Amino acid sequence: MLKFANQPHAPSWYAATANDATRHPVLQGTIDADVCVIGAGLTGVSTALNLAERGYRVALLEASKVGWAASGRNGGQLIGGFACGIDTFGQFMNESEVKQIWAMGLETLDIVKSRVAKHRIDCALTEGYFTAANKARDVDDLKQWRDEAAQRFGYDRFRYVDGDGVRQYVQSERYPGGLYDPDSGHLHPLNYTLGLARAAREAGVQIFEDSAVTNLRDEPGGHTIETAQGKVRAKFVVLACNTHLGTLAPELARKIMPVGTYVIATEPLGKERMAALMPAQAAVCDSRFVLDYFRPAPDTRLLWGGKVSYSTFEPRNLGEAMRSDMLKTFPQLADVKVDYAWGGFVDITMNRAPHFGRLSPTVYFAQGFSGHGVNTTGLAGTLIAEAIHGQAARFDLFGKIRHRDFPGGAALRTPALVLAMAWYRMKDLL
Ligand SMILES: Cc1cc2nc3c(=O)[nH]c(=O)nc-3n(C[C@H](O)[C@H](O)[C@H](O)COP(=O)(O)OP(=O)(O)OC[C@H]3O[C@@H](n4cnc5c(N)ncnc54)[C@H](O)[C@@H]3O)c2cc1C
Repeated sequence: MLKFANQPHAPSWYAATANDATRHPVLQGTIDADVCVIGAGLTGVSTALNLAERGYRVALLEASKVGWAASGRNGGQLIGGFACGIDTFGQFMNESEVKQIWAMGLETLDIVKSRVAKHRIDCALTEGYFTAANKARDVDDLKQWRDEAAQRFGYDRFRYVDGDGVRQYVQSERYPGGLYDPDSGHLHPLNYTLGLARAAREAGVQIFEDSAVTNLRDEPGGHTIETAQGKVRAKFVVLACNTHLGTLAPELARKIMPVGTYVIATEPLGKERMAALMPAQAAVCDSRFVLDYFRPAPDTRLLWGGKVSYSTFEPRNLGEAMRSDMLKTFPQLADVKVDYAWGGFVDITMNRAPHFGRLSPTVYFAQGFSGHGVNTTGLAGTLIAEAIHGQAARFDLFGKIRHRDFPGGAALRTPALVLAMAWYRMKDLL
């Protein structure tokens, strides 16, 4: 059996506060569908929902539980745009196409907000996001970004603050300035994923859990997708497996590197203390490549994320290691206990641009969100559904991006990334 199959949710604060305990059956026997979506993270459930709304019969197969992997464990930071800078797109596209990509970066936020409203998803969606500058040089970069957004793309909603202005977002001496974005924000990612899954079910999607796909076979007129106890026959397949894709499509797996990142939830701080710590209740990321990301939870816990690990092993004393990072920003929390600590894998591409495409005319994939999937996965689902429905122009724009393999195959991908990350870490320190 695959190592990641038939697993319960990780013991996170999200799992402890999940508001839907629906379990889906294991696939047994043979069923027919128009589209078989593999992987029930945000990419898979978004794709399945969009397709069902367009009238397709959809089967969604998940190796463990809906939202089991990154989608149910992440920092919950909902940030417009993409993980790579907009200039990365400019290497492969003309200015008018780059502007389309920019517009889609904003659309990612509308997609999440309209799904939450339409399906009444209870996921504590909160607007407001702050990028905290770590150094004076980052301040200049953030101001330049604000100006470029306004002048090149006509988006003038970023607001730069420094000095006491920073304390409205983070009560810390650590950051000389930062950029506030009122349209981005944060949410409870597991409840968001479960809410989308409920909407997909209501739209007619057949969801199966503990049903890892072990084999894909092309047959005349379609595909047969095999699990331990069943089969789906479908005209189209969508691979939404992220870092767990493994042997199903090695040519895709080589384009992404799984990097471990971690989150803790403190004990509840109480309303007053939390309001003093982060008065605007906005989500915060710092400006480093290997970054800290944190936000207030509705029950007044601080959710603190960061660290990276390139092996598949969790750092030792995870809760304590994360707590000591947290105290560098918030020394005033020295008396605060950590109640939950967990981690997961982000799917990083070499250039950090998302990797969307087709393996054949009827096999689609979306991966490589590079730590920016809470928003971008909804766009992936929208675009794949458009493309399967015959409107592929927006999806194919992403196909213009060239993605390189991580060198050396699975065994050597990790050392190559360690070297690359060591370089970026050094740059963070300079
Ligand atoms: C700790 C952490 C913090 C993060 N923080 C943020 C953040 O704050 N903001 C942000 O935007 N992004 C963040 N990310 C990234 C974001 O979570 C991901 O980009 C996003 O969830 C990817 O969604 P997905 O559906 O593509 O993949 P996943 O959620 O990983 O789902 C893939 C699913 O496919 C299933 N699967 C794989 N193989 C098979 C198979 N053979 N058969 C059946 N099922 C299979 C897996 O079991 C899994 O459930 C973070 C990620 C982590 C791990």
